[in-house]
This record gives sequence, C-alpha cells and structure tokens, in this order.
Amino acid sequence: MSDLYEALFYDGIQSKPHPVYINYSYGNVRVFDYQNNLIAEQVLQQATVSETAGQLYVYLNAQKTSFVVLPPAHPLIKILQAENKVNDSSWFAKLMRQKILLLASIILLLGIGLYCFSIFVLPNIALALITPKQESKIGRQFFDAYMQSKSIDSNATVYLQKFADNMHLTDKYQLHAYVVYDTEVNAFALPGGYIIVNTGILKKMKSYEELAALLGHEVTHINERHSLKSMLGSISASIFLSIISGDASGITAFLVNNAEQLRQLSFSRKLEQQADDASIEIMIKNDINPRGMISLMKRLQEEEAIKVPELLSSHPLTEDRIANAKTKTAAFVNRKFETRKDLEKAWVSMLK
Ligand SMILES: [Zn+2]
Repeated sequence: MSDLYEALFYDGIQSKPHPVYINYSYGNVRVFDYQNNLIAEQVLQQATVSETAGQLYVYLNAQKTSFVVLPPAHPLIKILQAENKVNDSSWFAKLMRQKILLLASIILLLGIGLYCFSIFVLPNIALALITPKQESKIGRQFFDAYMQSKSIDSNATVYLQKFADNMHLTDKYQLHAYVVYDTEVNAFALPGGYIIVNTGILKKMKSYEELAALLGHEVTHINERHSLKSMLGSISASIFLSIISGDASGITAFLVNNAEQLRQLSFSRKLEQQADDASIEIMIKNDINPRGMISLMKRLQEEEAIKVPELLSSHPLTEDRIANAKTKTAAFVNRKFETRKDLEKAWVSMLK
C-alpha cells in the first residue's frame, strides 16, 4: 500500500469539505475516510487537475463537483506533477504556452516588420542619405570596376563628351560620357552621371538626333536616380548591415562588387517611358527634332529582329515605346528644326 496523505475532500453533496486520506498509486487517485473506507477513486489521466495559488485541485468527476484540494507544498503535488497531466493543465503551464505563443508572434511580427522596413523603407532612407556627390563616387567606382574588362574609344569619347556638354543634359550631376569598344548594341547609365555608349550602338545610329535621344534617355535614368534606386532595392539587406554598423563603405564595396549587375539592370516599363518622355522634352528644349526618338527606337527594333541584346531586354516593348514616342512628338511632325551644327560636327567627328 502506498502512502496516505491528508487532504480535504469535497464530495459534491455537502458544501463543507471532509478531511480525508488520499493515496496515489499506479495512476489512480484514491480517497479514503478516516475509517479507511474507499470513498472516491479516479484515474489521474481522466481527472481534471488545476492549480490555483499553489493549491492543487484534483477533480474526481466530470461535473467537477467532487474533488480533493491539496495545500501548497503538499507532498503529493510533486508526485502528481511528475505526471504530465498536472503540468499540462496547470495555470503556469498554460501561461507559459501562451507566453511562448505570444513571444513567437512578436518575433514573427518583428521579422515581417524588419523585412518590410529593409525592402520598402530602407532603400528610401539610403537614397535620401546618399548625396549626389557620394553617388558620383559610387558611379565612378562602378565605372572603374566595369572598365577593368573594357577599353575606351578615346577619340569618340572626346566628341561624345562634347556632344553631351552642348546638350545641357543635367543640372544635378557632372556628366561623364564614354564610348566603349563593344559590339553589343547597348548603352547604359551608372549612378551619379556616368553614361556608357557602346561602339556597337553608335555604329547603328544614323543621325545626331538619334544620339541625342539616347543620351536624353540615359541621363534621365541618372537624374531620376533610377539605377541607384533599383540597386538599393535589391541590396537593402547589405545596406541594413552597413547602416546598423555605421559603416557606409560597406555599401560602396557591395555596389562595386556588383558592377556587372548594373549593366543588366532592368527598369520597369513605367521608368523606361519616363526616360523616353523626359528625353523628348530635353530634345525640344535643345532645339533638336524629338522625332529622333522614333528613329532610335526603329534602330533598336531592327536589332531586335536579329537578336535580343541586353539593351532591348532591359528596354522592353519597343513597339509600345515607338507608339508612345509617336504620340508625344505628334505636334512636331511638320515643325522644322534648324540643324544643330555643333552637335552635328561632334557626331561626324565621333564616327571617324
Ligand atoms: Zn532605359
């Protein structure tokens, strides 16, 4: 016979408790009166057990009218707690489960918050923090990294720079335009004022108006910080680390390591149209026939018929862009534009 312990028993009939002996063995809770008569019995696994203010209540029927109360530090409490039943249903265990659930929810919410923050908020903070001067430095580092595997057509570059300078393309950045030996029909802009025009696309173009349209388009990506924004969006995690560590050089290092990524950056259709539209405005302000944009698009379309180079895949939907350029320049169909002799001269010299 296992040990008998004193306890108070509520029989569900009388409101006052009886002092009883309680015994626990082989998973059964047994209640005896002082004459050692068995007066109640329950399998512990089927009993409801709860703990309030250190007192353990062991309910012996489903209605919870018959139960024993074990005062705090009662020797049976430890024994019963050793059985999972007690731990599982104790208020403390419940609270712990709720706390763990709450903690898990908080961690999850924080994680989602942090993710949204780094994807949507952080790039904009970084964008605001990076000054045009720093942006130019970043662009320069990109340029240097890119040029490690390329070479500059220095004659054409001199005239391309002259051409760009005479167009007054930007007030925000100092513009650096380069012609790079590369047969790919491509041109792209780096953050902070760098434009790279491949010899491949230069040879395809048939007039200085087309070149003006190209430069107007690329400079808009610079002026509107499209390249920087796009990159910041995709590397926000690294920027996050840089900002929390207070080390801005981390951002620069990351950008430089991903120079190749910039060349392949694709902008949304909306940004491409924004660049096309702004380019048309720039051309009009510079007394250049804006319908040069249509001609440029047609060159790209011809190229598209042969293959799909990066310029085209990153400047998608040529057909739509031609339609857009036609609409935006419709008012100038019959307008006569004087030849910009300075630009034409630079253009001709560039091709020599
Ligand atoms: Zn573009």
